[in-house]
Amino acid sequence: MAVTLTGTFVLHHFDWFEALYEFSRRYEAQSFDDMLVIVLFIAVGATYFSIRRSLDMRREYELRLKVEGRMETLALTDALTGLANRRHLYSVLKSRLEENSAEASPFAVCIFDLDRFKPINDVHGHLVGDQLLQQIAQRAQGQLRSGDMLARLGGDEFALIVNTRDVDEDISGLAERLITSLSEPFHIDQLVCHIGASMGIAFAQGCASQTPDALLQRADLALYRAKTEGRGTFRFYQDAMDAKAHERTLIELELRSAVEKGEIRPYFQPLICLRDGRIEGYEILARWDHPSFGLVTPDRFITVAEEAGLIGDISLSLLKQACEQARSWPKGTYLSLNISPVQFRDCQLSTKICDILDRTGFSAACLEIEITENALVHDVDVARRTLISLKARGMTLALDDFGTGYSSLQHLRSLPFDKLKIDQSFVTSMSESAESRKLVKAIIAMSHSLGLKTTAEGIETHAQALRLTQMGCETGQGYLFGKPSPQACQILLDGAIGAA
Ligand code: C2E
Ligand code: MG
Ligand code: MG
Repeated sequence: MAVTLTGTFVLHHFDWFEALYEFSRRYEAQSFDDMLVIVLFIAVGATYFSIRRSLDMRREYELRLKVEGRMETLALTDALTGLANRRHLYSVLKSRLEENSAEASPFAVCIFDLDRFKPINDVHGHLVGDQLLQQIAQRAQGQLRSGDMLARLGGDEFALIVNTRDVDEDISGLAERLITSLSEPFHIDQLVCHIGASMGIAFAQGCASQTPDALLQRADLALYRAKTEGRGTFRFYQDAMDAKAHERTLIELELRSAVEKGEIRPYFQPLICLRDGRIEGYEILARWDHPSFGLVTPDRFITVAEEAGLIGDISLSLLKQACEQARSWPKGTYLSLNISPVQFRDCQLSTKICDILDRTGFSAACLEIEITENALVHDVDVARRTLISLKARGMTLALDDFGTGYSSLQHLRSLPFDKLKIDQSFVTSMSESAESRKLVKAIIAMSHSLGLKTTAEGIETHAQALRLTQMGCETGQGYLFGKPSPQACQILLDGAIGAA
């Protein structure tokens, strides 16, 4: 019907009735029936084609809807694990936070990331890493209750939205279950992978700014705390963490200019020969002379400097300042410089140190490099290369805070150390614990049998100094002999330090 009406309108509009009339007059010989057949034929053809076209259009429309739906799903899904991705999680969080608070069911966000995933990825390749992530996603999903949502944020980082009834135990149980299940071994072909997970948890209720970003940031802060307090565990967000994060941001911002302004200065703590009370050298300890905070100790800024990539500059700046001050010291007095594990990633480290020694005229033989055991845990081969290079240039090497980290006897034997520094926790507990005394004695004996000298840190009493001297410890360091001070020479000239 519509086609006929449209046809009539078109014929009328373009004067085709007259044209038809003209046509029929010219071809009078043709019968009217023939003409009618032709017109009918055209009408049927047009109807057929228009129906076909509308069916095609409908099919295209359906296909487009399907593709759009698929694209939307892809945009919200993590391609590797099939879990929701960060965008999806974000939009769910947004809509849940916007729900009327009276009707909204309470929920928490948990972020967890994997411990020891990176070495597996690095050593066995990304294919194994990918399979591991898929298995982790499946295993984690198996621990969830209906209504909870699991998402992969990227890399080895995952997030959960968990419905809660404001009961800590409820979510603690889930966190424990999840962490335990992820610490069970994973099997990939012939490979057995042991990883673990740490988790940070933040409740949506009580989150003042009520945005997905604020909530995720809180869970992240709690995760950071879980990781720094031992990994394989979980922590709930607390307001104090926010204050700490704020201080950290402030410190990072100011630390950059502090290095340029020369506000990070070396303090010197004497290292004493326990046999004769002579000052052998000084450990360089960083202090930040902050215009408004006053003197800032390294525990507040060294980790920030490591994470912000500033530790290399700080360390070299301290060495340069210390070498310049040491020009006026008695010949042979050595300096002991702390090197962070992060600095071992710089393959130019020993060249940079030697440049400073050349420029200041300080002898490499009078420079001791202190590294902590953790530097060996991260990448022992990289550490070995740098240690060998430093040693080849004439420096001596000391293993700092011995007994608190993870270095093995194999490391001690195979790396070119000259000295062990016994951590102050052993020295402190020596007076009340016979076990500690035995341990210190054993460390000194072992050290000697490996051809290494020993320094005891944290000596505060004469009794400690005496006992350590009797045990054969060569060097002592601690408040008994002198606290870190900006003017090493002063202590030396005063001769105020005596043997215990
Ligand atoms: P460390 O290298 O083990 O330095 C010894 C720490 O023990 C120093 O703390 C020192 O002041 C403290 N100490 C020394 N004797 C005593 C004592 O008798 N009693 C007590 N209670 N403490 C004593 P400080 O200066 O706060 O440094 C802490 C840590 O910060 C250092 O431990 C070192 O690991 C790190 N650090 C300091 N300066 C630097 C640096 O320039 N670079 C790097 N990477 N780390 C640094
Ligand atoms: Mg040290
Ligand atoms: Mg130490």
